[in-house]
Amino acid sequence: MESLRFKALDNLSNGLPKTKVEASKKITDIFNENVFTLDVARKFLSDEAYKSLLASTRGHKKIDRNMGARIANGMRVWAEGKGVTHFTHWFQPLTGLSAEKHDSFFTLKSDGTPLEEFEAGALIQQEPDASSFPSGGLRATFEARGYTAWDPSSPPFIMEIGNGRTLCIPTIFVSYTGESLDTKTPLLKALVALDKAATDVCQYFDKNVTRVTATLGWEQEYFVIDAGLANTRPDLVLTGRTVYGHAPAKGQQLDDHYFGAIPERIYAFMRDFEQESYKLGIPIRTRHNEVAPAQFECAPIFEETNLAVDHNTLLMDVMDRVAKRHGLKCLLHEKPFAGINGSGKHNNWSLATDTGVNLLGPGKTPKTNLMFLTFFVNAIKAVHDYADLLRASIASAGNDHRLGANEAPPAIISIFIGKYLTEALNEIEARVGDKFDEQDEAMLKLDIHKSIPELMLDNTDRNRTSPFAFTGNKFEFRAVGSSANCANSMTALNTIMADTLKSFKADVDGLIEKGEKKEVAIMQVIQKYIVESKSVLFEGDGYSEAWEKEAKKRGLPNVKTTPLALDAYVTNKNKKLFESNEIYSHAELEARHEIMLESYIKKVQIEARVMGDMATTFILPSAIKYQNLLIKNIVGLKEAGLPAKSYANQKQVLTAISEHINVVSDNVEKMIEERKKANEIKDTRKMAIAYCDNVKGKYFDIIRYHVDKLELLVDDSFWTLPKYRELLFLR
Ligand code: ADP
Ligand code: MG
Repeated sequence: MESLRFKALDNLSNGLPKTKVEASKKITDIFNENVFTLDVARKFLSDEAYKSLLASTRGHKKIDRNMGARIANGMRVWAEGKGVTHFTHWFQPLTGLSAEKHDSFFTLKSDGTPLEEFEAGALIQQEPDASSFPSGGLRATFEARGYTAWDPSSPPFIMEIGNGRTLCIPTIFVSYTGESLDTKTPLLKALVALDKAATDVCQYFDKNVTRVTATLGWEQEYFVIDAGLANTRPDLVLTGRTVYGHAPAKGQQLDDHYFGAIPERIYAFMRDFEQESYKLGIPIRTRHNEVAPAQFECAPIFEETNLAVDHNTLLMDVMDRVAKRHGLKCLLHEKPFAGINGSGKHNNWSLATDTGVNLLGPGKTPKTNLMFLTFFVNAIKAVHDYADLLRASIASAGNDHRLGANEAPPAIISIFIGKYLTEALNEIEARVGDKFDEQDEAMLKLDIHKSIPELMLDNTDRNRTSPFAFTGNKFEFRAVGSSANCANSMTALNTIMADTLKSFKADVDGLIEKGEKKEVAIMQVIQKYIVESKSVLFEGDGYSEAWEKEAKKRGLPNVKTTPLALDAYVTNKNKKLFESNEIYSHAELEARHEIMLESYIKKVQIEARVMGDMATTFILPSAIKYQNLLIKNIVGLKEAGLPAKSYANQKQVLTAISEHINVVSDNVEKMIEERKKANEIKDTRKMAIAYCDNVKGKYFDIIRYHVDKLELLVDDSFWTLPKYRELLFLR
């Protein structure tokens, strides 16, 4: 029987039916078409109900049951006008995916009269069967049930799947006793903490600031390959990455893909998912080819962080779904192909005041400059003090393949700020002992704004090797994995910023109480923070070995694997951080730690199984088939009386193949043994370490090495798995 590989290849060369995408509509005509925005609410709600909704979105005010009923009713009327029959609470449990459970508006009155309704209770709170979502033992300790509760700060939207339309209500997901079971709840808490701390510090500069929001603009990298080819590979189907595959003769060395012309089939896919995104209010702005073949990127206009996170989660869903429609597979894994760049999700982050100021944008006057410097230096201090936590917030089995793999930022968290700001900080630092005075021109007129062109230059010439880079008016956290929910990194980042700003305020107030002038006090604390945290600043090549050594000297953490990186969630220092800022309780942290370890174990476990299965049922049979052919050939030549040199080459190949076969099958067996041993371990952390060091660490590379060698030796027509050249270059 012809292998699926060749059928899939056949299909591709016969030209797949192209999915028709409607002609692009003007974006402003469809943007937010399926979102219950405040403008829509204005039309569908009474004055009173609208005001109540507005207050809850802006000021975190509670909506009472009576208003809830009216808002729900307005939402239903709007949604029904768009063909919606069902609604769901849409939430992000700790699986890393989004979850939904649909209910219809349809109901029966007591006398059997059918009716469509959407009650306040259904909008505000639901009780999904929570028992199958990860809880890290929280529910066992507390209460078996969990509930979802409406998050009015992220607007409801209509999800269109085929002809079906569902009203989705963004919600948090918590246990009955209030412990968070999702990624949104802690994020919202971190954003509240950040708001409070940053608004307080803003008071030094501008009394009109009453609110500070964290902004997030993510850049999403992804691979797109032919679904027919992808579906023939168990590794891609089950793990989202290839566990085997020799590098193609041509990879990314020509750099001919980056920013190149977008292939037609991919272009249709992009336009299609973009149109869906616009309707959902996701403000996608850019699309382009990435460095690796078959790799692409899209990025939206930045938004308030909670909304940006929801939009990213939603987009990942949409991309997956739309790709299928085009006979394509969208890979969000951090490292789908060995030897080729992986995918990240750069998190561009800044802080904005309700007076319209970007706090990480250099100011134009001495006063706004000092404000910029304050937030800039506090961010550096936060990253310095909690580098271990930031590292933990991006840790996952997938991201382990990428971080430090000489194409992505290293596992060492450092900050790149560019030449100009480095000089500015050095200048301030050099003045230790020198009491700043209010009239000090040099101090207050850093003239940072005048160097904006220089900043931008730094920015374009930006250091791609840095995990955390200042890019002119925002920081870019580049180490986040492509499949991650941004909430994890954003919760960590905004919490550490909030905490650092709180300390900053206490330090400044302390000096003011001692009689120091405000500006002078601020400058002195800034100087102190620069001194304390400058070891995290690094402008050089983050990929180099020299940096690894230097970072060690500086005492910067460099944790390469997830099981160990996750320890940072449960150190005393970080527990205190999260508890004092009311982000996570002690129990929640322990539970999360447990869940993340379990998730790591499961992922590596699945990969190990897939490797074993594929070796046994795909690789070795192909190799043995070819081995037999060679044996037959050699025996035949021998029998025909030909001299040994006439089959010397065949013998050489046969020997090599036989060796590779033995190494592969031996190591697969040993890996299975190691897995069994790991499964016996009771302590989750130790089990995760065993999976990391003993199962993956000892066997993945060696098995793969020999499988990939076989791929180079075995007759191509016997090889049943699509090869890298086909996966990456055919579409
Ligand atoms: P580049 O492409 O050089 O990385 P861009 O200016 O295009 O830089 O920005 C990339 C991402 O950063 C976009 O998603 C953009 O919306 C986002 N971004 C820009 N300004 C901010 C900001 N103040 N806060 C958060 N994200 C921002
Ligand atoms: Mg960028």
